[in-house]
Amino acid sequence: MFEGILIEKSGDRQTARWALLNESELPKGEVLVDVAWTTLNYKDALAMTGRSPVVRQFPMVPGIDFSGIVSRSDSASFKKGDRVVMTGWGMGERFWGGMARLARVPAECLVALPDGLDLKQAMAIGTAGFTAMLCVMALEERGVRPGDGEILVSGAAGGVGSVATALLAGRGYKVVAVTGRAEEEDYLKGLGASRIVKRSDFSEPGRPLQKEQWAAAVDVVGGVALANVLAGIQYGGTVVACGLAGGMDLPTTVAPFILRSVSLIGVDSVMCDRVKRTLAWRQLARELDLKLLESMINEVSLKSVIGSAAEMLEGKIRGRTVVPVS
Ligand code: NDP
Repeated sequence: MFEGILIEKSGDRQTARWALLNESELPKGEVLVDVAWTTLNYKDALAMTGRSPVVRQFPMVPGIDFSGIVSRSDSASFKKGDRVVMTGWGMGERFWGGMARLARVPAECLVALPDGLDLKQAMAIGTAGFTAMLCVMALEERGVRPGDGEILVSGAAGGVGSVATALLAGRGYKVVAVTGRAEEEDYLKGLGASRIVKRSDFSEPGRPLQKEQWAAAVDVVGGVALANVLAGIQYGGTVVACGLAGGMDLPTTVAPFILRSVSLIGVDSVMCDRVKRTLAWRQLARELDLKLLESMINEVSLKSVIGSAAEMLEGKIRGRTVVPVS
């Protein structure tokens, strides 16, 4: 038996609770991992609260991420004692995830922990930080460079936003951080933001084309805020959309695309291919300032992570939430 969080459904009612689980209940997979750390991502919060239909099968162990040590392996790619990280691939949605002491997963979903990161730091990065790196890579694949002008990052005090701010500033970009929390100004400047703008500047529907202000943007919010971001991008600029913290819709017009050659790029971390995944983790290990990463961390226990999920959806959690599992 081992400890974990379990989401169950009875009729329309979904509940999450701490539970004792049995190894025989784990899904099929070649590699059994002793989970060391997991983390709370926005998607985990949606899954645990039942706010969105993230969980496709019940009962479900949530947790779209874990880091840990291989305990048993039927794959030539991994052996007992290897340090590994897993994010996405439907874990915590379609098959049991990281919020339990044991996880059994397909070998092809695992990434060897890159040198330079420990198991806790890997989860301080987690899906949110990995996605932030994918966003930075997407901007640079479109030719965005530090000299081009200011880069806007929305939801900046959250997980993706915090890591994106630190990564972009570390690469020499001028980052403008959008936040709804004025009290996080010092934190965001500490991560490298050159200036802060208020979330409320983006929350009301605006003109389809506004003053050209930013060379590029990383957006985690969606909705009206993303429409306003698109309207304020300079000619030829690029916006990477990866989140929906403010809404799933996108009430925009074609004007930024056809009159200013603005590009809107999507980033998904869940099904990201192995080559890009490995490259992103290597870059994270190489360039993310570990002191800054430390400043983003909140640590909560496996038992209290259920309460943290509701706080996250209220936008009250700063940076990254890590959970020691064993
Ligand atoms: P967090 O909760 O850590 O951060 C979200 C931030 O968005 C908040 O901290 C807040 O920042 C801001 N925010 C919250 N609510 C609103 C609102 N109603 N309107 C505007 N801003 C708001 O979540 P993550 O950083 O982990 O994830 C952010 C988004 O990215 C989520 O939608 C998540 O689903 C998505 N995501 C997508 C991935 C992908 O593969 N595409 C992977 C990872 C995340 P502040 O207080 O600074 O304004």
